Amino acid sequence: MANSAIVGINWGDEGKGRMVDLLTDHFDVVVRYQGGGNAGHTVVNELGKFALHLLPSGIFRKGVVNILGNGVALDPENLWKEIEDVTSQGVPITPENLKISDRASLLLPWHRELDGLEEARLADKKYGSTKQGIAPFYSDKYQKKTILAGELLYPEHLREHLKDLMEWKNLTLTRVYGAKPVTMEDLEVWIDVFCNKIKPFICDTGAFLRKAQADGKSVLFEAQLGALRDLDYGIYPYTTSSNAIAAYAPVGSGLPSAKIDEVIGVVKAYSTCVGEGPFVCEMFGEEAEELRKAGFEYGAKTGRPRRVGPIDIVATRYGIHVQAATNVALTKLDVLSYLDKIPICTHYTIDGQLTDEFPFPSLLNDAKPVIEYMDGWKCDISGVRNWEDLPEAARKYVEFIEQNIDCHIGYVSVGPERDSIIIR
Ligand code: GDP
Repeated sequence: MANSAIVGINWGDEGKGRMVDLLTDHFDVVVRYQGGGNAGHTVVNELGKFALHLLPSGIFRKGVVNILGNGVALDPENLWKEIEDVTSQGVPITPENLKISDRASLLLPWHRELDGLEEARLADKKYGSTKQGIAPFYSDKYQKKTILAGELLYPEHLREHLKDLMEWKNLTLTRVYGAKPVTMEDLEVWIDVFCNKIKPFICDTGAFLRKAQADGKSVLFEAQLGALRDLDYGIYPYTTSSNAIAAYAPVGSGLPSAKIDEVIGVVKAYSTCVGEGPFVCEMFGEEAEELRKAGFEYGAKTGRPRRVGPIDIVATRYGIHVQAATNVALTKLDVLSYLDKIPICTHYTIDGQLTDEFPFPSLLNDAKPVIEYMDGWKCDISGVRNWEDLPEAARKYVEFIEQNIDCHIGYVSVGPERDSIIIR
């Protein structure tokens, strides 16, 4: 059966979790392939409202197997807390419906601390990290200085490996940052309280996925963040530290041979961005505050107010091209219902030159948005389920975006609930 990926086209928070929750109905397996607990996917369904950080958004569907692939930053502490939180809301999580790759690397206790220490050192030049340890984790992974989840199954080997890593990391903690060293006693508590809890979920998920594909099962790959935060293709250095784009899904999932038949790119009907870095179409003042309130744009993990702006056609087309998106889900169209005129960023100017190409990151600070306006529809559209029933101005807005981003918009979302969707 066909495989699909659901990816973010912009800066993240586009509503990917909501789309995965909707579409998992058609899939047997859902895999998170990169990132960690540093962002949140909000899902609203008949079981309640959930802020997922690391768990795949297919966790609510009976019969769907959810996998945390080798590409994720597996934080045993936060994952265990999330499992407890979601199960306390009546969602069963067992080794049957959640499997953790034995090749996923562990985010270690010092990674979060190092993230905070480095942001503090950078002071007003900070990256705007969520301080979940993601950057120190991925740099250590590429230095081969983390632990694989599968090592938890071999306790003696694990302790020896951890001790070596701890001695090495304490040099950085104490000599570079003047912080307290980590002790083996600290690590024993961490193993006992968190790592041992997630052990039953760890297995060879690569073998599981290969068998699933051989048996004709379909796989949905779930991304975190969006193309503009991708380490290689985003607004470096204000990116995340992993590859969020669809092309990485096979590698980070444990099924490197996978063919992805459909890439569904999630785009918000306006723009939001959390943290530091260039954001060309940013709105300020009252106009921004109104949009932020209308869309409830506050980070799921940190509660930080998100920066907001009109939809950015230049950035969106780029996010679609670098992921070869075959279909777009446009979310939160209902949020724009209060506006008389809807702004759209159609181009940038850089040094007075008009461009519709997304520029090299260093040029983004000099880029100015070119804004056009379309008529608003000024009525509640959250109950609309058919394309023809949308007000003409709303249809024109969606069609304008579609014509300018080189991709069909197959889904229009008009509310956070599972069924608040128009399928075109
Ligand atoms: P993700 O990380 O890409 O999954 O996105 P987030 O969960 O951070 O942000 C999306 C937010 O918008 C969540 O609170 C969703 O419940 C909400 N949401 C998603 N789609 C819609 C929509 O069409 N309309 C409205 N009003 N809210 C939506």
